Amino acid sequence: MLPAVVLGSRFAQELPELAMPWRADRFPDPQLVLLDEDLAAELGLDPAWLRTPAGVALLSGQVVPEGAAPVAQAYAGHQFGGYSPRLGDGRALLLGEITGPDGALRDLHLKGSGRTPFSRGGDGLAAVGPMLREYVISRAMHALGVPTTRALSVVATGGGVQRDELLPGAVLARVASSHLRVGSFQYARATGDPELVRRLADHAIARHHPEAASAENPYLALFAAVVAAQAALVARWMLLGFVHGVMNTDNMTISGETIDYGPCAFVDAFDPAAVFSSIDSGARYAYGNQPAVAEWNLARLAEALLGLVDDDQERAVALAVEVLGTFRVQYSAVWSAGMRAKLGLDSADEAVTGPLIDDLLSLLHTDHVDWTGFFRALGAAARGDAEPARALVLDLAAADSWLDRWRALGPDGDAMDRVNPVYVPRNHLVEEALNAATDGDLGPVRDLVEVVTHPYDERPGSERYAVGAPESFGPYTTYC
Ligand code: AMP
Ligand code: MG
Ligand code: MG
Repeated sequence: MLPAVVLGSRFAQELPELAMPWRADRFPDPQLVLLDEDLAAELGLDPAWLRTPAGVALLSGQVVPEGAAPVAQAYAGHQFGGYSPRLGDGRALLLGEITGPDGALRDLHLKGSGRTPFSRGGDGLAAVGPMLREYVISRAMHALGVPTTRALSVVATGGGVQRDELLPGAVLARVASSHLRVGSFQYARATGDPELVRRLADHAIARHHPEAASAENPYLALFAAVVAAQAALVARWMLLGFVHGVMNTDNMTISGETIDYGPCAFVDAFDPAAVFSSIDSGARYAYGNQPAVAEWNLARLAEALLGLVDDDQERAVALAVEVLGTFRVQYSAVWSAGMRAKLGLDSADEAVTGPLIDDLLSLLHTDHVDWTGFFRALGAAARGDAEPARALVLDLAAADSWLDRWRALGPDGDAMDRVNPVYVPRNHLVEEALNAATDGDLGPVRDLVEVVTHPYDERPGSERYAVGAPESFGPYTTYC
């Protein structure tokens, strides 16, 4: 029995060239593993019903609500700098759009739902570990205030997935303001049909950047809006020590939400060169490269939009280049404001905070200081107890002289505690929780979700969640 889950098919109807009608695999024994009840309520879905067999059937694509028209979405993309003309949803489906009680339209999407016409050599499936990983980290990112796709649920399929070993399979139900990517525009552009690019751009404007519609040049305004959203997004990642790990153009949204939590990780020690992904051997997507990569990806978006920007292509290029040139300025503004907030110095003079921040970063880098832990400890230092911060550095003379300069500016420790998290999903704890879950024990993953979804609230008894990996954990490698 299905209650009134109404799924629209606006994407499929407006952009049939990018939408392949498709259904999920039949799975042997779908069982709910995790459900974000708050998100369910935001969507107007009854969490208790989602836990019933009928709800689990919806969340794993076994049953499709009447009137819904699930599709695999087509997109292209630059992967590690090389262009792939046909990627698309190789193991995912857009079930449709859902309108919540707030009136907002969101995509309901499945990942791990079986092979599609875009699967190429892949099996279309996902193992429970990586789907729990996306669930945990996207929930943490949302709680940290970062624009992101949201994980609604993870359902174990009851089937197996062959990787290096046979693993339990799972389907993630994901919610996003849409799944439009830079790669969607690259795909549309490559068809050679300018009207398809225009329809896609109009769809994107209507869903994400409606103010662009009334601009003098709506498509240039769309580009500018994506530039602004991505500049702000990547600045937020940097402020948190988040490394996406696979910033291919197919993994960059038009909405400005973080998407596709594959080989991502949070840095413990601050290091611009930090890379975790096993396949990023050239360090293209290193922590410190992320702003430059985002800008590179946005140039690919500009290329796809040029035909809409102006009939005169030389002029179109000049206009797009001018807008792209604002990326660095906007990125730096958000990042600097964020750093000043992290230091409790919102209103201090930038001429003073700029060098102070530069000196701090070089100190943190040289001494391999824990990024999240240090900023949280600084809140206590602002209130008079510098010992927790001093305990994290090696060069105490340099640290003390920096602390003196900083304290002289009158930092607000309580304001700092509202922007510097105690808890981020630490790599070693994520691994521990996923390994336990794969072996059938969901306790650690539930505990981890509880802690990282309240990142600013110190909890007695949760101290181990607030510190980096022990030496014995070794270098961390992530896999897609
Ligand atoms: P990603 O960079 O992980 O977001 O994925 C890149 C492309 O590979 C997308 O087109 C995915 O749909 C596809 N893909 C990833 N894993 C699989 C899989 N197991 N089976 C089929 N396609 C996959
Ligand atoms: Mg992807
Ligand atoms: Mg992936």
